[in-house]
Amino acid sequence: MNKDVNTRPNLYKIGYSSDDRCCICEGDSETLEHLFFRCSYIGSVIGLISDWCGLIHTDINSMTGNNTTTGSRVQKQVYVLVLNAYYYQVWAQRNNATMNAILLMTARVFKLIKGDVKHHVKHKYKPVVDFRDEAWLKLLDLM
Ligand SMILES: [Zn+2]
Repeated sequence: MNKDVNTRPNLYKIGYSSDDRCCICEGDSETLEHLFFRCSYIGSVIGLISDWCGLIHTDINSMTGNNTTTGSRVQKQVYVLVLNAYYYQVWAQRNNATMNAILLMTARVFKLIKGDVKHHVKHKYKPVVDFRDEAWLKLLDLM
């Protein structure tokens, strides 16, 4: 992950931010590690993702859906879509909290992630599926 992004510790160092704490939980220093994997708010989002599709914290931490245990090619590709949507939404929520002092409920953030994945599966990815993949995608409400 790019360490030159404008996290609060980096902004704090150059005098642009008054403190370096996470703008979401106001707990620890807002490192990328904290923001994407340790923040309690984000942990709640990860919990909702896990309940939905079975991706767990370590899958997300490894930053690739390919590490997931078993699963078809389609499932692994859907997991990559989930991870992409996750990173996008975490960063978007962090920016919304920093710039607009707005923090959505974690259930809403989860819905945005799921909606993004569903959109990609239906309109962009359009996987060729066998009956098992189809059942799995229906179970996840992605088809
Ligand atoms: Zn935090």
